[in-house]
Formats: sequence, C-alpha cells, structure tokens
Amino acid sequence: MTMELLTRIQRELNLLEQQGLRRILRVADTPCAPRVQVDGKPMLAFCSNDYLGLAADARIVQALREGAGIYGAGSGASHLISGHSRAHALLEERLAHMLEPFVPSAKALYFSTGYMANLALMTALTCMDPQAEIFSEALNHASLIDGMRLARAAVKVYAHGDVAALEQLLGASKSATKVVVTDSVFSMDGDLAPLRQLLALCEKHGAWLVVDDAHGFGVLGRRGHGVLEHLDLRSDHLVYLGTLGKAAGVSGAFVAAHADVVDWMVQKARSYIYTTASSPALAHALLTSLDIIVGEEGAQRRVRVGELIQAMRAGLSGGNWNLLMSDTCIQPIVVGGNEAALDMAAALFRKGLWVPAIRPPTVPRGTARLRVTLSAAHTVDDVRQLLEALNAIQAEEDHA
Ligand SMILES: *Cc1c(COP(=O)(O)O)cnc(C)c1O
Repeated sequence: MTMELLTRIQRELNLLEQQGLRRILRVADTPCAPRVQVDGKPMLAFCSNDYLGLAADARIVQALREGAGIYGAGSGASHLISGHSRAHALLEERLAHMLEPFVPSAKALYFSTGYMANLALMTALTCMDPQAEIFSEALNHASLIDGMRLARAAVKVYAHGDVAALEQLLGASKSATKVVVTDSVFSMDGDLAPLRQLLALCEKHGAWLVVDDAHGFGVLGRRGHGVLEHLDLRSDHLVYLGTLGKAAGVSGAFVAAHADVVDWMVQKARSYIYTTASSPALAHALLTSLDIIVGEEGAQRRVRVGELIQAMRAGLSGGNWNLLMSDTCIQPIVVGGNEAALDMAAALFRKGLWVPAIRPPTVPRGTARLRVTLSAAHTVDDVRQLLEALNAIQAEEDHA
C-alpha cells in the first residue's frame, strides 16, 4: 500500500484532535445501569437512554434466555426469505395494538435498529413519485437525514419548531407526495415538537406526518404508548416510529402505520429487505419489556423519572447554568466551546460521574453541551451527587 492513503487519514485525525472533535470509545464492563464500571473504574452514569431502567432487568434477561431456548440464537435469513419468526410476528401484533388508538388501521413492522427503520421510511414513502418532497425539521436525527439523502426526493428544511415556515413551504409545494418529518423529543435538546400544529398542517395540505418517537416510546403517555398518547393525537396522516433499544431496554425499532403503508415497506424498503432479521430472542424479550411498560410498574417508573427531572431542574435553577427548556429525560447543559465541554465532562469523570460531552456535528457549532439523561433507575441521591459535582466544578472555575 502506498503510505499516502494512510497519511491522509492520519492528517485528518490530527485535525480532529486539535479541534477537540476526536471521539473515543469507552469500554463498559458491567450492564447498563446508573452504577457501572467503565474502563475498570466505578462510575455513576448519566448517559444512557435506558429511561425506565429496563436494560438489565432480570425478567427481560430471563425472557431473552427463554427466547433463545425456543427460537435459537440467530434468525438465519432476512424476513422475506425465512428469518421472520413467530416471535417477530407476535411482537408486531402487540405493537400494532398499542398504536392503533392513534394510527388508524395500524400495522407494525419490526426493524433491527431505528437507523434502518428511518432509512426504510424515507425511501419507501417517496419512491413511487419522482416529484415527492420531504419537509424536514432542522434538528432531526442523523438517521432521518441519511434516509432523506438515500431517498431521491427533494428535501426542504424548516427551522426548529417553526410551524409558520413549514406552512409556507407546504403552501408553495406542487407535489402530490408531501412528507413532513420530525423527531418528537429532540435527542440533543430534550424539547418536544409542536406535533398538534404540525398534524393540523399535514391534514390541511394532504401530507404525511412522520413522527420519530425514539425518546418518547415507553416514557411518554400515561401507559407509555409514546408521544401520540401523551398529546392525544389520532390521524390517518400519521406514520409513527418507535425505538426499542432506549426506554424498552432491548434493541430494534418499529414503524406503526396504515396496514397498506407497512405492506408497501415490505415490498420496497431495502433496509428491511436486504438484511438478516435480528435474533428472534430479542423480539421475545421485548414482549416482557412491553408488559412492564404498559402495566402499573411502568407507570410508577414514569412517575419516578418525572420526579428526578424536577429535582435536577430545581437544583440547577439557582446557578449560572444554561439548562435547556426540557421536561423530558434529556436534560442538556449548553457549555459552548468544544474544549470547554470536554473539560467539564473530564472534570465530572474524575469525580466519578459519567456525563457525555456532545459536540458538532451532532449539535450546531458553538453549542457543545453536557447531555445529562435521567432514568427511573437513578435515585434522588444520585441526582444530588451530580448537582454537587457540577456546582463544585463551577466554584473551582470561578476561583481559577
Ligand atoms: C436513537 C435514535 C434513532 C436510532 O435508533 P437506533 O435503534 O438506536 O438505531 C433514531 N431516531 C432518533 C431520534 C434517535 O434518538
């Protein structure tokens, strides 16, 4: 190999390093939980999306074992060849039933990851019409953006939360296939999209509304059915995506939409068709996770995490913190510069607290932040420790 190939990559890596943008992997030795061992060191973690504390739940782990016993380890093929097991089918029935009150005539389709589900959605909803247009919220998740790049549709971006801008774009559109796409809970900001207004616009202009509820499914709504339950929305314009690796604590994602939309995805969505079905044991374990989510225990866990959110916000409200407006488990503290955010995360890490620094391109330049995520598995005391550490770091800085 000529050395130039590698030298180019090394030069770019050095550049990232200088800009405070080089990312590193940390190795967790223990299950996902507030108390973890990372790179051999005991830490209190505020970084997972395991909002209900189910990722290491003994009942779900047992169901995973049971599923492996019934169905084996691997699916062996893609869904359309021979990999679609009874476990996948049962899971899809349960998910469709959960979303039917909000998405009329719903069927559900299970994917290995939310990333792949979003590629499938963006391409399948537009591939029948060369004139299709996608209207995308500015802070949408990278998986939606990649899906739009893959789709051969024109993409119009509207500013964060800007319903009026979207209305203008929709009004000006001549396309017969309009698809409005938004996260429900914004993954790096924690705020909610104005879904009621967006849906009204979509109904008026004959557009689909694709709602990516990765951070809402399981946590929002009295019974954990997600943002549509939380806001009491129902419409045949809705196409819903929920993920199952966050609050549900396992892995994968699903689309819930009109049965014909789902059937169309089975025909056309390449990220569904050309990939091996995930292990049926995961789908089997998810049935137990859903039992917990929709039951009394799930409701109690949602209340508990709500209390922790309030405690954290109250604890930081006095200080000089740029805590974003958010009522969800995602509580970002904007720091600004990349180095400053990294320094803050490193100072917390030295105190035994694991909070990720989120930098561009994940967030806009100049808005690097600490992304604190809370889980029902945290205690009030855990949150108090975080607040004390943050205040101590700020006091040290004020002295320096
Ligand atoms: C995490 C996430 C995804 C991707 O889901 P995975 O199952 O992790 O691939 C999609 N959209 C949003 C908003 C997310 O936060």
